[in-house]
Amino acid sequence: MNIDENVVESIVKRVVSQLSTETASAQTCPSGGDWGVFESMNDAVDAAVEAQREYLNHSMHDRACYVQAIRDVVLDQENLEYISRLAVEETGMGGYEYKLIKNRLAAVKTPGIEDLTTDAMSGDDGLTLVEYSPFGVIGSITPTTNPTETIICNSIGMLAAGNAVVFSPHPRAKKVSLHLIQLINKALCKAGAPANLVVTVSAPSIENTNAMMSPPKIRMLVATGGPAIVKTVLSSGKKAIGAGAGNPPVIVDDTADIRKAAKDIIDGCTFDNNLPCIAEKEVFAFDNIADELIHYMKQNGAYMITAAQADALAKVVLVEQTCKETGKVRKIISRKCVGRDADVLLDMIGVKVGKDVRCIICETDFDHPFVQQELMMPILPIVRVKDIDTAIDLAVKAEHGNRHTAHMHSKNIDHLTRFAKAVETTIFVKNAPSYAGIGFGGEGHTTFTIAGPTGEGITSAKSFTRQRRCVMADSFRII
Ligand code: NAD
Repeated sequence: MNIDENVVESIVKRVVSQLSTETASAQTCPSGGDWGVFESMNDAVDAAVEAQREYLNHSMHDRACYVQAIRDVVLDQENLEYISRLAVEETGMGGYEYKLIKNRLAAVKTPGIEDLTTDAMSGDDGLTLVEYSPFGVIGSITPTTNPTETIICNSIGMLAAGNAVVFSPHPRAKKVSLHLIQLINKALCKAGAPANLVVTVSAPSIENTNAMMSPPKIRMLVATGGPAIVKTVLSSGKKAIGAGAGNPPVIVDDTADIRKAAKDIIDGCTFDNNLPCIAEKEVFAFDNIADELIHYMKQNGAYMITAAQADALAKVVLVEQTCKETGKVRKIISRKCVGRDADVLLDMIGVKVGKDVRCIICETDFDHPFVQQELMMPILPIVRVKDIDTAIDLAVKAEHGNRHTAHMHSKNIDHLTRFAKAVETTIFVKNAPSYAGIGFGGEGHTTFTIAGPTGEGITSAKSFTRQRRCVMADSFRII
């Protein structure tokens, strides 16, 4: 039998590649740092720079393997349960069952290298390619509300795009963030990746975040958090992606399936105790269906409080803070109330209910702080409106120009279209719970970094790249 030379070459290449993978699997662990965790931010940044330089010589196939290694280590049941439990214990926010869902979602539905599709143009003058190349080392600041979810999805997207990443986790989610980063490093090492593609510091703090942002070696900053940190990265003079706060309104008109709308809204609003920035935060309901909506919400675990109780609760969940620079006093949400169970919040105003209560609802005016503030807890104010014009006007105002997320329950396509156009949000969910907007029960990939202010939207590997053009004049075309 004659064997073609090309076939022989391909077999040899495959064997050599297998051997090198096996050698990589057996390699000892990286020197410097403790599985990606460094004492000093400078050391963490330097290690990531070195790792990324080496990473440039790895193939797309390698990148796909490393991404798979991250997915696998998170999906390992023991790891998944541990990080989900620890996130709730450490931050005191959200619910274990929800964290399981969110962490799994991030591991499964964050796109990998398939997101980086090359664009090509061919014609009389030849062939031009546009490829998505790495940015370099990215500094990624992550929130308390989705600490592990954000590290999982940003690690997958950033590494798929050929970058290394220095994480600056929220200090209140330090333990779980560091543990996850170490798990990821061990998995990457086993898969043969350069050491320290994903790093952080042992003591995350605002000072360390600032130290991470300044070195020129950090080419891009990604902030997933509230307005202060988004403003900080946007003022850094570097390429920055800002994924900031939302205050998603929901409109329910009188053409909606009210029973379903009530269930969807309560399911979305109570998902991880309302921590997701996309979760329903206030409802504008047509007056002629509001009673029916409230009736079905109660059937789905909502507990209605009176106006006086709502005012008492507002005094507990919103606290006064004096601004250091201006001396002005403003109301901010109390950290001890964010992401807490509904029965725990009710207990704070002396109302005793069981765990079957998962959401607190109340009728309020538009000006009520529950409507105006992004609470991130299962409290849902309902404002009655007389018609679609009022509903859209108030809902757009309540969204405060964040252009983040909005929801609507309606069968009137004119109403749906008018609201979607007026509110201009990155995510607009029709007739479903909010989480459909990030690919849980809705089509499309997931992300936990939704970049409204800087426009990348539902971020993925492509968001963390630079476009580069390669031109071959007069050749390489076949027509
Ligand atoms: P946060 O703003 O308090 O903290 C976010 C991160 O920024 C943390 O790591 C924190 O240490 C850091 N940080 C905050 N201010 C800083 C400063 N001045 N200098 C340096 N570092 C600073 O937010 P949080 O409470 O953890 O998360 C909730 C907020 O994040 C909500 O507003 C929510 O809507 C938003 N969020 C947005 C998205 C999105 O994808 N758009 C996702 C999750 C959370």
